Amino acid sequence: MFLAIWILLVFAIGAAIGSFLNVCIYRLPLEKSVLWPGSRCGSCLKPIRMRDNIPVLSYWLLGGRCRMCGAEFSMQYFWVELLTGLAFAGLFYLEVVVNIHGFGLLAREAFNIEQGVIPWQGWVIFGHHAILLSLLIVAAGCDLMHREIPLSVTLPGTAIGLLGATLWPWPWPYDASQALPMTAVAFPGQVQPVAANPWWLLAPHQGPDMGLYAWPFWGPLPLGLEPGTWQLGLLTGLVGMLVGTMMLRGIRTLFSMGVGAEALGLGDADLMMMAGAFLGWQPVFVGFFIGVFPAMIAGIIQRFRTGDNALAFVPWLALGVIVSWLCWSTIGPVVQVLLFYPELMLFMIVASAVMMVVSAYMIRGMRWLRG
Ligand SMILES: [Zn+2]
Repeated sequence: MFLAIWILLVFAIGAAIGSFLNVCIYRLPLEKSVLWPGSRCGSCLKPIRMRDNIPVLSYWLLGGRCRMCGAEFSMQYFWVELLTGLAFAGLFYLEVVVNIHGFGLLAREAFNIEQGVIPWQGWVIFGHHAILLSLLIVAAGCDLMHREIPLSVTLPGTAIGLLGATLWPWPWPYDASQALPMTAVAFPGQVQPVAANPWWLLAPHQGPDMGLYAWPFWGPLPLGLEPGTWQLGLLTGLVGMLVGTMMLRGIRTLFSMGVGAEALGLGDADLMMMAGAFLGWQPVFVGFFIGVFPAMIAGIIQRFRTGDNALAFVPWLALGVIVSWLCWSTIGPVVQVLLFYPELMLFMIVASAVMMVVSAYMIRGMRWLRG
């Protein structure tokens, strides 16, 4: 009962934040202030009264029109508010109530959570990720509306991500002493050390506990870096940020070279930089591959339907990152062998770079043949 009230409240907060995100999507690419002036009708410029500014509901109560002059408001306002509300409620439900990441702390508190008593760590986990979700919604909206992702979204976003990484380093919300030592004992109490299976190669339920940041940036941790220290956290965020931006910039360079035209924008790289600062590099790296294939299909469909070549890539990248993060307890064990072997990683990067250049030249060849 109390839990249902919490979820409704989270939805309402999400919808209210969605109302603010609308203002950001509309004004940030134009480099206008989001705080002043307050919301107003784009047609008669009269301020919108408080009671006409209730998220989601006002749009329907007023029939999608301005009370003063009757000008129609874009449906976008309503959809962004509804989407943000649902996304917040969904995130809260999945991460805190269902505990999809399998946090031991939340599992122990499961009974209390069902009664509506949410431990503060649950709010931190939800809050930090809700900020990321909001930033992704703004970036996707800006890309769809203006084909541009303003740095005024991604730079503060990256800073907030790094701050979170520093404040709650892996294995938070676990006690750092609970993180398995590097001597590779599979679980406490086990007599035999399994040297062949160090902790970073074990399935998460046997090996390292997942924290607010899925994993530390590397295993075994380099000397001098201990689980739970802010230095490890900051480095996790920094590596995530670098991998996010360098990956997209590398792909952009290779592809532009081959196709002979600009592919991808720098805004896409900035988005992945921000996501990397929030999640660490592993979920972002995997998220790119989850997002890129539906994006390619959408690009082909769009090209046939409208002849428009410029696809908004950010919504797909954002979706890929969200899926990767929310499904990490399933995806993580599958990919961790790959992600912690430098030789395998290097091979994969070289192989995909070659594939990318080849396909880029093929696209160029097809254009040449056609035209
Ligand atoms: Zn008006």
